[in-house]
Amino acid sequence: MTRTTQVVVVGGGQAGLAAGYHLRRLGVEFVILDAQAAPGGAWQYTWDSLHLFSPAAFSSLPGWLMPTQAGAEYPDAAHVVSYLRDYEKRYDLPVERPVRVLGVHRDGELLRVETDSRTWRARAVLSSTGTWWRPFLPAVPGRGVFGGVQLHTVEYRRPQDFVGRRVIVVGGGNSGAQIAADLAYDHELTWVTQRPPRFLADNIDGRALFDAATGRRRALDEGHTDTGGVASLGDIVAVPPVREARDRGLLKAAPMFSRLTRGGVEWADGTCAEADAVIWCTGFRPALSHLAPLQLRGRRGHIATTGTRAVDEPRLHLLGYGDWTGPASATLIGVGRPARDASREIAQLVRA
Ligand code: FAD
Repeated sequence: MTRTTQVVVVGGGQAGLAAGYHLRRLGVEFVILDAQAAPGGAWQYTWDSLHLFSPAAFSSLPGWLMPTQAGAEYPDAAHVVSYLRDYEKRYDLPVERPVRVLGVHRDGELLRVETDSRTWRARAVLSSTGTWWRPFLPAVPGRGVFGGVQLHTVEYRRPQDFVGRRVIVVGGGNSGAQIAADLAYDHELTWVTQRPPRFLADNIDGRALFDAATGRRRALDEGHTDTGGVASLGDIVAVPPVREARDRGLLKAAPMFSRLTRGGVEWADGTCAEADAVIWCTGFRPALSHLAPLQLRGRRGHIATTGTRAVDEPRLHLLGYGDWTGPASATLIGVGRPARDASREIAQLVRA
């Protein structure tokens, strides 16, 4: 069965909901298709101890401040999931789930959206599928030889799963530091980073990151020199558990090893460490395979955009994937503005 609407939003995590909020205000007809069985996007799957790196009020979507969480200045992931679930209800957003979009195709004046249930036709598509679903693993020699367990950030849940095991955590970003801090106490841990870890100052949290990303965008738009944005401040937000483990001297990083062996890892100088598990906290790529039929892929898997609009397909907008789709757009507080701008452009398009 085929249905027609003005706009199909692919993905019902925070980015899709923020777009839904603005599309509704603009009186645009739309549907949000989300592959998960329940609300909350990627937040449903993060590790148990994860807390936001900003207080609730600075982690809000447009229209409604995130309520504070009793006893936690920095809310946990479960709190974010319930906020997103309530946000959907509060604005009566038309989310259909679980519906997986398989492909977006050009179909004359319209775009055709093929899903695992039915086909949709729309004047415009907004893609907000996030990155969690495409974990990135670097091509390190020996990955196929290692005899222990290998997992990515997306599969890590809690330190109890690694009792008695020698663990290597790879990655100098927030996930790597937080998972290393989680495992630092009762485990034989080696934390490995490509360059020495760069902790942000203890008084800097997600609020400052948002300001830095916004300031950088403004400077570039006004033709000033690149301020370096978030990257100029450091890589790791010193959230309380990271700070505590670091201050106890438990977060000392070793340089990146050069290969995995059957029993562990080996550095270029011949030093070896035995390991039972390697946790790759090595990032993500945008989940864009449903857009493959449009043949828009550019460098590093990104699609060329002006703001959020795809340069070579003006009926397609991309939202929430990172700074290339709006400053800090891959954060709760940062996605609101590009969601508003995308929705305005889409409203103009569907009314033309
Ligand atoms: P997602 O939450 O991934 O939602 C995308 C939705 O699209 C999912 O439900 C998915 O199932 C669906 N989807 C995917 N493909 C399809 C398809 N083909 N068809 C239909 N549906 C599809 N941000 C902050 O603001 N503060 C923080 O403290 C913070 N901490 C973070 C910690 C970690 C470990 C990570 C990874 C990210 C963190 N972020 C944080 C960044 C960001 O807020 C989250 O990654 C957030 O989940 C991104 O939301 P999203 O809506 O873009 O994507």
